[in-house]
Parts: sequence; C-alpha cells; structure tokens
Amino acid sequence: MNYPLKVSVVFSVYNECESLPALFDTISGLVQASRHHFELIFVNDGSTDNSGAIIGEFRGRFLSPNATVRYLQLSRNFGHEAAMIAGIDHATGDAVICLDADLQHPPELIPQMLEHFEKGCDIVTMVRRKNAGSSRQGRFFSSLFYCFINQLSPHKLQENASDFFLISKKVAEILKKDFRERNRFLRGIIQTIGFQTATIGFEAPTRQAGKSKYPFFRLLSLTSAAISSFSKAPLFLGIWFGFFFALISFLLGFYTLWVYLFGQTPPSGYTTIVLFMSVSFMILFFLIGIIGIYVGYLFDEQKNRPLYIVEINE
Ligand code: UDP
Ligand code: MG
Repeated sequence: MNYPLKVSVVFSVYNECESLPALFDTISGLVQASRHHFELIFVNDGSTDNSGAIIGEFRGRFLSPNATVRYLQLSRNFGHEAAMIAGIDHATGDAVICLDADLQHPPELIPQMLEHFEKGCDIVTMVRRKNAGSSRQGRFFSSLFYCFINQLSPHKLQENASDFFLISKKVAEILKKDFRERNRFLRGIIQTIGFQTATIGFEAPTRQAGKSKYPFFRLLSLTSAAISSFSKAPLFLGIWFGFFFALISFLLGFYTLWVYLFGQTPPSGYTTIVLFMSVSFMILFFLIGIIGIYVGYLFDEQKNRPLYIVEINE
C-alpha cells in the first residue's frame, strides 16, 4: 500500500443546508488530524435549498494541504442510491467511503474504517447498533424487512447494515463496471460481492437538523427494489398457490359431483362459491401485481437510461 493513502469520501446531499455547517466542522477537524490525503466529494442530488451554494462557499474557504474538495451536481433529484453511485463513479481514491451528509453516519469513525482497510479489508460495512433517530415502528419494519429478505434471498444480508461503508478501489471498479442496474440496493450488493470484509457497529445519533427524506412510501419502494433485485422467490409464489388451489378444486369438485350423483338434494353451496371465487381472484390479482412489478423493473433495465446525469463537475 502506498502512503499516504488517498481516501475519497462521498457525501450525498439533498436539501441539507441545515446540517452542512456542522458536517464541515467535523470533517475539517478529521482531515487536519489525519496523515492521509482526502478527496471530499459532495454530490448535490438536485437540492432545492441552497445546499449547493453552501458547499461552494466551503470549497472556497477550506484550504488544506491534504484535501481536495470536489462538487458534483446532478441535473435533478435522482435519489440517494444514484447519488452514491455518482460519487463512487467519480472517486479516484485508494479507498472510497460513502456516508450521509446529516451526521447520522458519524465521520469520527472514518479512522477506524481506514485501520481495517490498511489491514487488508476490501470492504468495511457499518452496522447500526441502535438508531436513536428512528421510531419504534421504523425499527419494527426494518427487522421485518431483513427477516423477509433473508428468507427469500439466497444471500444473507446483515440486519441494520447502512449506506455507510468503505470499499477499496478494486471493489469500486467492480461496481463501476459490472453493477450498473437501475433497480438496486447498494448496501445489499456490497455484502454479496465477497472479498475480505470487516464490520463495525455504530450508534446512529438523532438527526440534528433538517428532515428525513425517506417517508414511508419511499421506504416501501426501496423495499420492493431490494426484494426484486435479490430474489426471484415472489415469482414462484404462483406455482405454490397453483398447487394448493388445484388440490382444493379437486376435492371440492369431487364432493360436489358425489352429492349431485348420490345425494338426496342437489348441493346449494352459494357461500362456498362466493368464498372460493373471491379468494382465488384476490390471489390471482396479487400474483399479477407481483409479475407486474418485476416486468416494470425489466422495462427500466432494458431502456438503459443513465442512472444519473451530472450537471456540474468541479
Ligand atoms: N439523500 C439524497 N437524495 C435523496 C434523498 C436523500 O442524496 O433523494 C441524502 C440525504 O441528504 C442524506 C442521505 O441521503 O445525506 C440519507 O437521507 P435521510 O437522512 O433523509 O435518510 P434517513 O437517515 O432518514 O434514512
Ligand atoms: Mg439520515
């Protein structure tokens, strides 16, 4: 390993004008205390507040011999995942670290991550031990999500892994070249690439300023992207329902015929018909919906549109 190391740090920024000043203070202290060279990349994911101007002002005043500050502005809001990919694509360091700009991913842990990298780890994943910032329902849905995805996916994902991670240049090159899918779940992909990996637990503090950009429906869409990109199992549900309903239909048909042929009175069975029809249609529509979701993702992939568009790169 050549010293000093060049470390790229990617911050995805979407309307974070309230959090940025505190972030600059923390990161400046960190850079000044380090022997490594830092490439700080701020990816402005189409912010509508003045995050861009605040970053510009920081770039003008932050002069450190061991740091360069880069600014990448996307042409509109592409979402957190795309912003991280844009940062990784433009990073030139020996190691690339991604973290949120709201200080919920403590930059103070960067030296600890780098220690693992220096020992030969290609990937360092950060796992939230306790997230003071998330609600009880948030934690419940998060555990439910990991339990569900780990049942469905052939790859076991670490519960509470975050979008706070370090990857070596080698892994970054693999992401740049081979993982260009539009529908992706980066923290999951990182865990399935392989290589020597270390995990560090951390406690995510509450958001000090600004608001979370992940309302319930956005999380739901991330969940659907994660499940569909890691598992085909939902597509096979139809087969199992098919077997189950075939068995029920056979039994019901046999019983109905028996009563018709040998019973005293013809079978009435209105309730059975209504229940059977409504349950079957419910399941049928549900399965069509699942197929629709996968076809939608296929449609997005084959269009091959850019994952993000860069407006300013300086
Ligand atoms: N973010 C982004 N694009 C988006 C939404 C969020 O770049 O469309 C950034 C945001 O500025 C923050 C990080 O992604 O730095 C995580 O977002 P947030 O804190 O809202 O998520 P939470 O921590 O609530 O899950
Ligand atoms: Mg946050």
